[in-house]
Amino acid sequence: MDSQQFKEFGKAAVEFIAEYNDTVRERDVLPSVEPGYLLSLLPENAPEEPQDWQSVFKDFKDTIIPGLTAWQSPQFHGFFPCGSSYPSIVGSLLTDGLGTICLTWASGPVSTELEIVTLNWLGKMIGLPEEFLNSSLGTGGGVIHSSASEAVFVCLLAAKEKTLRRLKQDPDFNEDQAKLKLVAYTSEQCNSAIEKAGVLGSMKMRLLKSDSDGRLRGETLKKAIQEDKEKGLIPCYVVATLGTTGTCAFDPLEELGPICQEESIWLHVDAAYAGAAFICPEYKYLMDGVSYADSYSFNAHKWLLTNISVSPTWVKNDIDFLNTFDVQRVYLDDINSETKIPDFRHWQLPLGRRFRALKLWLVLKIYGAKGLREHIRNQVSLAQYFAHLVRKDKRFVVDPEPSMGLVCIRLAEGDDLTKTLLDNLIAKRKVFMVTAFSGSKVIIRVAIGSRFTNKSDIEVTWNLIKAEADILFGESP
Ligand code: PLP
Repeated sequence: MDSQQFKEFGKAAVEFIAEYNDTVRERDVLPSVEPGYLLSLLPENAPEEPQDWQSVFKDFKDTIIPGLTAWQSPQFHGFFPCGSSYPSIVGSLLTDGLGTICLTWASGPVSTELEIVTLNWLGKMIGLPEEFLNSSLGTGGGVIHSSASEAVFVCLLAAKEKTLRRLKQDPDFNEDQAKLKLVAYTSEQCNSAIEKAGVLGSMKMRLLKSDSDGRLRGETLKKAIQEDKEKGLIPCYVVATLGTTGTCAFDPLEELGPICQEESIWLHVDAAYAGAAFICPEYKYLMDGVSYADSYSFNAHKWLLTNISVSPTWVKNDIDFLNTFDVQRVYLDDINSETKIPDFRHWQLPLGRRFRALKLWLVLKIYGAKGLREHIRNQVSLAQYFAHLVRKDKRFVVDPEPSMGLVCIRLAEGDDLTKTLLDNLIAKRKVFMVTAFSGSKVIIRVAIGSRFTNKSDIEVTWNLIKAEADILFGESP
């Protein structure tokens, strides 16, 4: 493909994206396909002969698009939002258009430095203490990981190394035995990513019981640590969640932090979804105690209008990353500088890194902090409006109270009917949500996901749910 064809194909693709988003409301949220649909449509082998872009683009529309779940539909309420916006989409295009990879500072000075700048901006916007920022005089700084999973895993490995280094000061220290005794703690409400980090890092991950509001309390953590120390185990890593996946509960960092500090345990804060909301001053109190943390991450690609994969992660002491991940090769020259410019390859799993800061930079500049705050506040108020509609119907219970852009609802009659209601709704493909638990009760999570959502979309969602409940209860609409 030459540059002329690229321009034509590119223009057609941009037109298509705009049209797709403009008409996303008219599409079913869930595609009408069965497992294996694409396998039976596409040939077994890659084409031998080159094909023109027009016919491939037609194929894309005929075979790929029908299998798409419409995450940007205002009736998509599953999981948490899939961040997207036009500045970010252009950012992705430009990143690929420039075709660079950053391995060392020299292989991508601008990738490294824009990442430093955007993470300083963002860290200040969400109110992280100075010591996490590269702009401070200390050893803190931010890096963009690909996912919350990567951030939690990388920090687990750094915590492991840090603990082992501390213990090595004892002349009787046996590293192989110590590795088997390391323990991490989080709550049973944690995202699967946290448990997986324990599996990948070969560290026992204890899922501690949360309180009735879904929060991991200090006394629970303290008791678990005490029990483990009595068994000769070595507490090493705690992951607190700000905005749990099930109900968007917030672990109290002010309770957990001092315990971690006293026990020399690494505290990581996973704010994957709700972290974006801290750009609004009214939510910053939920981060109280963050200064106790060693590391902090959130997904700009959830609620900050940025396309996947952008998980800003800050660490207070970058030496902990260097001690863990610094592997040298003669062809990978580190930056020799008096300035605080990191070689991010020592902060992450892959060697080659995508120029992810570019789209974040575009989003931060084109929306401005003000525009991003408006987005968060608008979505929270839409969630409140949805809860208000639900509360008017006595068959439903809002449980727990709405948190950020998430409203959890259930039928007062019990779990079985709640599950049936959701199954029936999803079968019609017009709306999508998933279940979770509030205490022992099954709830339907209704996350406000799309940036396009407005009040009438919320009414559409509510009317679909209500109509399905009417059918379930044998009432005429
Ligand atoms: N942590 C929380 C609280 C989440 O809600 C999620 C995903 O929804 C994750 C972690 C995992 O995020 P990722 O897909 O970026 O690994």
